[in-house]
Amino acid sequence: MTRAFDPTGGKPGQVRFFLPGPVWVRDAVRQAMAHEAIGHRGKAFADLYSRIPPRLARVFRTNGFVFTTTSAGTGLWEAALLNLMPERILALASGAFSERWAACARDLGLAVDVLEAPWGSAIAPDEVRRALGRSRYDAVTVVHSETSTGALNDLAAVARTVRDASDAFVLADVVTSIAGSPVECDDWGLDFALTGSQKAFALPPGLGLAFASDRFRARAKERSRAHYLRLSEAEAFAEQHQTPYTPSTPHLFALDVQLDHILDETLEARWARHDALRGRVAAWAAERGHAYAAAEGSRSWTVSCLKPRPGISAEALVARVKERGYTIGGGYGKWKASTFRIGHMGDVDLASLEGLLAALDESAGEAAA
Ligand code: PLP
Repeated sequence: MTRAFDPTGGKPGQVRFFLPGPVWVRDAVRQAMAHEAIGHRGKAFADLYSRIPPRLARVFRTNGFVFTTTSAGTGLWEAALLNLMPERILALASGAFSERWAACARDLGLAVDVLEAPWGSAIAPDEVRRALGRSRYDAVTVVHSETSTGALNDLAAVARTVRDASDAFVLADVVTSIAGSPVECDDWGLDFALTGSQKAFALPPGLGLAFASDRFRARAKERSRAHYLRLSEAEAFAEQHQTPYTPSTPHLFALDVQLDHILDETLEARWARHDALRGRVAAWAAERGHAYAAAEGSRSWTVSCLKPRPGISAEALVARVKERGYTIGGGYGKWKASTFRIGHMGDVDLASLEGLLAALDESAGEAAA
């Protein structure tokens, strides 16, 4: 039994916003952003920033270095690559975001081989092992929770395989997994793990959060070609409780409040709540005949990507439920017309999800294909 905790901070049953990011934001977090202006080289800022990395490290489950920057998640894809400057990358791709990270590496002029799995499936660690046996790679990119398909890779197993089979760095996008489902940066041997504030951290968009391992930081010191997102600078400034460039201070006030909320719920209880939310969607989908895009056993805890039962149009369903005041995600990329996505991450409670599912049931009759 998890103890009674109101994740919504006073609005149980009232959440209507279920995008797979950006997500619904609690009142207390929004109010924290309205803090009066402070300078980022003064004591007030240092006091604020000194509180952030130690608690962030608890969420990333590391004794190592975690930093924040004013950036979308995509900026941290670039940061991972530009700080490491790998000779050759193995990009694991099984959906739109993992494909885009590979494209990001190519845009930076890096050598990339893509190991592809069909959209909706998880990457098989054995395939990764074989690929690592064929060529020498010094970095592997992997997206933990593929938000476009709702598939969850076994990041622990992939990281273990990479470590066993090579000395490549494990660069992980944990954008829609961390703070919603288990991510263990130290225990899993990750080298870089990145997210954005607008996912299971349940903050407004605009803040990038990332962990970097000791060996990543050591190599970055020698090889980095990054400027704005140069890790060694972020680290040097963090020691003085500052950021190298003007930070979005409102986001940091919000993060300060939200880290207390997350740790007060406890990470384990937060994971359990997300597990219960995905379990409820799974039971509902099975009863209604909506099919998961991802196989059972490799489904994200934070986003469910569903193909509506025959006769229902996914796009019409998204539109009809919107008329009832509920926002859900449409399909992504090539799955735009054929799927809909329910984001159930952050500070959403089960009672609110029940409201959404009831609204989807009502809408289904008006969403003929
Ligand atoms: N990676 C994943 C798994 C995502 O879901 C997203 C956005 O939805 C991104 C990366 C990109 O994040 P951003 O839009 O903050 O750049």
